[in-house]
Formats: sequence, C-alpha cells, structure tokens
Amino acid sequence: MVLCIFIFASCNPPKPIEIDSAKLLKNVQILSHDSLEGRAFSRIGNQKTQKFIIDQFNEIGLQTVVGSSYTQEFPYTFTGKKRQEVFPMDNAKKDFSNVTDTIAIGANILGMLKGSTNKTIVISAHFDHLGIRNERIYNGADDNASGTAALFAIATYFKKLPTKHNLIFAAVDAEEIGSLGAEYFLNNYSKKEDIVLNVNLDMIAHSDYDPELFACGLYHFPDLRKPLEKTKSDKLALLFGHDDPENREQSDWTFSSDHRVFYRENIPFIYFGVEDHKDYHRDSDTYDTINTDFYIEAVKVIIRAIENLDEFLD
Ligand SMILES: [Zn+2]
Repeated sequence: MVLCIFIFASCNPPKPIEIDSAKLLKNVQILSHDSLEGRAFSRIGNQKTQKFIIDQFNEIGLQTVVGSSYTQEFPYTFTGKKRQEVFPMDNAKKDFSNVTDTIAIGANILGMLKGSTNKTIVISAHFDHLGIRNERIYNGADDNASGTAALFAIATYFKKLPTKHNLIFAAVDAEEIGSLGAEYFLNNYSKKEDIVLNVNLDMIAHSDYDPELFACGLYHFPDLRKPLEKTKSDKLALLFGHDDPENREQSDWTFSSDHRVFYRENIPFIYFGVEDHKDYHRDSDTYDTINTDFYIEAVKVIIRAIENLDEFLD
C-alpha cells in the first residue's frame, strides 16, 4: 500500500496552473492603451500607469516593501540638458533658456508576499516604454505591458499558495533609459544580502513563428538548471541560452534588461523573454500584434518555474 501511494505520488503530474486569462489579457490591453501615451519616463502616461499598478497591488492585497506606500520615487538629473531637449513636447511655449539641468522624477511600484524564511526572490518587470515619437504612440504591448500584467497574475497565484521565499513584485520605471528604476531599488534596498534570485520579465507575449520562450542566465548560474528543466509545457518550448558571450550564433542578453543590475551585484538572475520581433521598439507593438495563447501559456510556465525555484533554492 505504501509503495502504491509512493508510485502514485511520483507519477502524478503536478496540478495544472490556473490563472484568470481574461483578466491577464485585459490588463495588457489597459497598459498598452493609447490613453497611457506609451508610458514614457516622467510623463503623465507613465504616472497614470503607476496609479493603475498601485490599484492592482491593492486589490491583490500585497504588503508594502518600503515604508507604508507601494510607491518608491526617485529623482534623475539629465545633466546639462534643458527641459525642451529632454521632453520636447512639454512646455513648448515656456522659456527654459536659463535652465541647464533637468530634474525628472520617476517611481518604482513595489509590493510583497511574505514567505516562511527571510530569503527573497525579486520578480521584476519594467512598466515604462518609449512614449510618443514623431507624433506616433509607442504602446509597448509586448515591451513591457506583457511583463507588468504578468506580475499581477503571478502575485494573485502566490497569494493563495505560500512560498518559502519572500516574493517582491517590482514594477520598475525607466528601463528604457538605462535601468534607472531597478538600479535605484537595488541600491536602496536595506536587505540586499537576503536576495537569492531575480526573475526578470521583459517581452513575454510575442512569438510569430514557433512558440518559444527563453530563460536566460544559466550560463552564469548553472546550478539553476535543475528547477528550470523540471518546468515543462506541451504548448511552448522553454529554451535556455542567450547568455554566453562566446556564442556567435546567439546574441548575449546578459545586459539587455533590468536583470543586469542584479547580475552586476553577483545576484543570480533568470530573465524570461522572446526573440526580437518585427514590432520590437516600433509603434506596431500593440495589443493586436501580441500572441494571446502564447502569452497565457508563457505566464503559466513562469509561475511553474518560480514554484520550482522557490522549492529548490535555500
Ligand atoms: Zn523592455
């Protein structure tokens, strides 16, 4: 009898991941809507986006990370640049001829679920994008409304399923101008030594040909291979790579998004993303051009990976 139970337990596939797919897609649609004007750093559309993220974190019931607010503001100085140079669409009629430095304010939105230990996994996704250029809105549905909306689905899932590690959900600002938000978060986080892993999501909804999602980082952190190999899907291929500087067949994504900030501090990372595609950094990166079935499955795969990583890591 004991043997039967053992065999049954070990052969039984893990319980399927259930998420609210309709809500996930709706959130991408909202985050990539024209009314948010491409979510450019320090612009009104970016600030509206922050508010939307705060509402989601509140609804899920996340704890705060810094003080009593989800918002972590940070200033950035564009040294030697006038307001008109940095934000040409702003204040067109005002005279800024005496101003030499432009100070802009950005903000990360940070929420947390407590685990049973003091160790922490930071799940990050940047919410800023390119804004308006040549009077065209760059909606950034894949880059990175997809990663931001995934944060809400992942947090909702783990709210009901306690983890060993604390999970910090970091919706970070200003990736598109140099990972300023991720850098500010990490430089100012008082328990940096407790962070065992960064899982970064940036462009996870667009796969025009074969359904392929990359998990990048194993070249640097080969110990993480085992929990990722346990992460399987029959609807998409989870591939490893894009992290070996010597590999001439593939571009190296080690420094391509916010995970680089963690990597520079020797904190292990896994970055989930897709190959660059025809709509990358174009005004055609809209809700209509993402692949919804692929995206839903990608989010489920990432949840399973986080589950496996949480179990595997001390
Ligand atoms: Zn991006």
